[in-house]
Amino acid sequence: MPATGPRAGRPSGASTAQAVTSCAAIVLLLCAGIGTRASGVAAEPVRVTVSHVARAVCPGEVVLVRATTSAPADAVTGRSPAEALHFARTVDPLVWEAVLGIDISAKAGPVRLIVHAQAGGSAADATHDLVVAPKTFPARRITVDPKFVDPPASEMPRIQREAKQMAAVLAVVSPARLWSGPFAAPVPGPATSAFGRISIINGQRRTPHTGTDFQAAVGTPISAPNAGTVVLSEALYFSGETVIVDHGFGVFSFLAHLSRRDVAVGDAVRAGMVVGLSGVTGRITGPHLHWSVRVGPARVDPMSLLAILGKQSGTGRILERVS
Ligand SMILES: [Zn+2]
Repeated sequence: MPATGPRAGRPSGASTAQAVTSCAAIVLLLCAGIGTRASGVAAEPVRVTVSHVARAVCPGEVVLVRATTSAPADAVTGRSPAEALHFARTVDPLVWEAVLGIDISAKAGPVRLIVHAQAGGSAADATHDLVVAPKTFPARRITVDPKFVDPPASEMPRIQREAKQMAAVLAVVSPARLWSGPFAAPVPGPATSAFGRISIINGQRRTPHTGTDFQAAVGTPISAPNAGTVVLSEALYFSGETVIVDHGFGVFSFLAHLSRRDVAVGDAVRAGMVVGLSGVTGRITGPHLHWSVRVGPARVDPMSLLAILGKQSGTGRILERVS
């Protein structure tokens, strides 16, 4: 991903138009506003500029937010309207990065990010405006065992309990970044099912598919997409044998339909470590691995995470852990 240097001013009309009309191109928009305020006796107040890198700025996408300071910062914080941004220093002492997710159901329109940097005795604020483009996801018709479409009343307490458990697990944001280096797909097989597809199951319209499915014969080893801590390892009604890895800073991997789980809650996993074997458990029409990614409250496309923070991305230089 080639990145140009920061420049002041609002994004160009051409770039904005591209973001609105295309959800395919890598888009790099640069800083939307710079402000400084000196709070100490530093000879020159620190300045901060904000830019971002994304495949596209639309629902389901991961956005890397980059803050560049004029002097090495002691801390960089920020927030979007929905959540805190967790910045970590990169190998470049002037550059900090945070990962922002745009939820699959996010409305099109402007989103303002606010970033604050502190260096020595001075501090600076900047705003950065994203424009979320509209996106329509395709529909697919599938047929499954009717008991999974309309679960029997006897299973409702379990389903409700698991939904609450899942929400509780994903609501806990680890205050440290646990991942390091690039993310990688959990199995070598190709992705077979697009994120966001709306399923019409046995003729009934369902909620969108919030993960990506990968071809994987039963028994294929499943690797942790990056380092983290196991926060769920359990057999669930819909997703079958399931493992959730907390990568820290609100980033989670959800791996479903396994035939075997090899990790327990509390286990620390390294990138690439086998967490189980793929299978055909839960609500499923054939063997495959389902991988979902959360970034804070946002349900995002794992392929977008790989595009921005994977091996081929050339971005995501976050190396230093900041708690
Ligand atoms: Zn799936």
